[in-house]
Amino acid sequence: MIQLTHVSKTYPSQISALSDVNLEISAGEFAFLTGPSGSGKTTLLRILYCAEKPTSGEVIVNGIRITQKDFRKIYQLRRTMGIVFQDFKLLRDRTVGENIAFALEVTGHSSKEVRKKVSEILNRVGLQAREEDSVLSLSAGEQQRVAIARALVNDPPLLLADEPTGNLDDSMTGEVMQILAHLHHRGTTVVFATHDTDLILRYPYRVIHLRSGRRVEGSP
Ligand code: ADP
Ligand code: MG
Repeated sequence: MIQLTHVSKTYPSQISALSDVNLEISAGEFAFLTGPSGSGKTTLLRILYCAEKPTSGEVIVNGIRITQKDFRKIYQLRRTMGIVFQDFKLLRDRTVGENIAFALEVTGHSSKEVRKKVSEILNRVGLQAREEDSVLSLSAGEQQRVAIARALVNDPPLLLADEPTGNLDDSMTGEVMQILAHLHHRGTTVVFATHDTDLILRYPYRVIHLRSGRRVEGSP
């Protein structure tokens, strides 16, 4: 599903964010990507969703090689992944349903399909009763569940999450983890960046460690 070969990223400011990272994540895996703040987690995810070009090395996501100079494949690639952020990135002046419908409309579904899919996905994240509510009326945990629903509504085989529980308390974190665990059981590949070592210890998933932009073995 994901293969990085000798990937390095140096920002124009000469900050080396990733150094010679080799990494393989198989289809269906749940992998935590961890390391202290500044270790390169966000940069690695941004390379996977083509928001950032690696300075050198080769990146293959979902069979698509994304290192080449033209970025035409980005749209093809983005359709195969859902992305979730720490700050949810919802349209704040819209309802829960509208936030999700938006992700479907841009991929060209009919309005009947949109209504059906919105209601199905809200069921899956336990928010079916909140479809007509403004996202601002929701708790942080509920807002993150809307963001996850939006990321999943096109049924991508890959979910990338960058500190998705960073703004959530323990109980909201538990709810989000339950949804992601369920997703993993259904076969979706999940890459979950977090600096929260306590969280990682509570789950039996693979852990990939970064330190100063390099992969390191062993404990957090
Ligand atoms: P993490 O997500 O693990 O906290 P980041 O990938 O955000 O790590 O950052 C890795 C390093 O790259 C840090 O030193 C950070 O300051 C630097 N960095 C991140 N984004 C940029 C950017 N857009 N421009 C310059 N430096 C950046
Ligand atoms: Mg980060």
